[in-house]
Amino acid sequence: MPATTVRALCLALYDYANTSQIGVFLTREMGQVRGLAKGALRPTGSFEGGLEVGAVYDLSLLPRTDGLDLLTRARMVEAFPAVRGSEAALNAAFFVLELGAQLTVEHDPQPEFFDAAIGSLRLLDKGAPRDIVLFAFEASAMRLLGFMPAVESCAGCGAVLPVRPAFSPRYGGALCAACGPRDPGAKPVSAGALRMLARLAEGAIPLSSLAIDARVARDLRAAFNLFWLNLLGREPRSARFLDPA
Ligand SMILES: [Zn+2]
Repeated sequence: MPATTVRALCLALYDYANTSQIGVFLTREMGQVRGLAKGALRPTGSFEGGLEVGAVYDLSLLPRTDGLDLLTRARMVEAFPAVRGSEAALNAAFFVLELGAQLTVEHDPQPEFFDAAIGSLRLLDKGAPRDIVLFAFEASAMRLLGFMPAVESCAGCGAVLPVRPAFSPRYGGALCAACGPRDPGAKPVSAGALRMLARLAEGAIPLSSLAIDARVARDLRAAFNLFWLNLLGREPRSARFLDPA
């Protein structure tokens, strides 16, 4: 089979043997890809001295049916250098990469989700506010991957939501006062924060002019963390660095 070239964001890397690397990538064309880059750490070669987590490549690979794909060449096209100079931006970028790894699988391309991840890394690289970038990414991920919770009316009975409904990913979204007690794990979240989540998911707000007040930010972070916990079975490892100020 001839080599295929895909646009790929490097999610994780593992050293292999002395000079090789195994990479996990989110690709635009093929979903998640795992591949062996033989001799990647040699200073001269097809991998420019080694792959880097968080960089974007034009990646040439030979798909194999028995085990890891074989990576034959990687040309870096974007590296987000300013992210590496800021701890807050770096933690946020790791969160984007972790969700990219957790929410995608092999052979199931999600090009819009790929574009959302790259767009978020570009914004972090430009110094955009971390919470806003992540909230927009997380909300888009929910919508694009088909996980969007009901946040406009009660997910249990369709009733109008109170000012502070219970957010229950387990029951599919926000719950009214009558339905809330069904899920002891639900968290109270303001209806305003949930409306913000819905608008962010639709991409309806220009992020450059968006300000989110501290209470809404705390509610959104709590809602997203509970959502990912419910979906993934644990909070993302990098979420603990993301508490809003
Ligand atoms: Zn209800």
